[in-house]
Amino acid sequence: MSLFPHVKFLLGAHQPKQFPMDEGCEVAIAGRSNAGKSSAINAIVGRQNLARSSKTPGRTQQINFFELTPLNRLVDLPGYGFAKVPINVRRHWGVLLESYFDQRQSLAGAMVVMDARHPLTDIDAQMLDLAATRVLPIHVLLTKADKLSRSAAMKTLSETRKALGARATVQLFSSTAKTGVEEAREVLMKWLADRG
Ligand code: GDP
Repeated sequence: MSLFPHVKFLLGAHQPKQFPMDEGCEVAIAGRSNAGKSSAINAIVGRQNLARSSKTPGRTQQINFFELTPLNRLVDLPGYGFAKVPINVRRHWGVLLESYFDQRQSLAGAMVVMDARHPLTDIDAQMLDLAATRVLPIHVLLTKADKLSRSAAMKTLSETRKALGARATVQLFSSTAKTGVEEAREVLMKWLADRG
């Protein structure tokens, strides 16, 4: 059973004026490309292929809004591993992300997806800094944890927790092995519920 049986892709925004109405409550999920963000969204929401819609050409440099329920949204902030894109695209993307964090009153929390094999890259740190411009709970998913031994995964978890301190909560996650899915869902549901 899907957690959100009526979940659907709502729209992709290239500009702030295209954002949907700022009402209800939404949770943003960000991650460097290839960190496993789309797989994590699919696993958390319980719908195969949902986040594939953010990967279709043209949608990788926009903010993608998914409707979970009529007043709850999951917001996919893709592709901030933009080192290879032209400077004007990078600038546009940065401005779009900044206005998103600046404006959205309905934003209740941000999840940041990092590859457990090399977390806290410069790009991850930039994303955390951006989210920290708001008083928001931040939760880090250390993805692809199945690629590490149990002891290496636990070591990464404790090191990342230590590095982030009170800035964010952190957990191990694997879309493949389905580890940490319930824990991530609980965070999502709590943030949505706390905002009513
Ligand atoms: P995105 O670019 O961050 O949205 O990343 P994707 O979800 O598309 O994943 C990138 C690649 O990593 C794909 O080949 C996935 O199959 C793989 N991947 C994603 N999550 C996991 C995971 O938990 N474990 C393993 N082993 N591979 C994963």
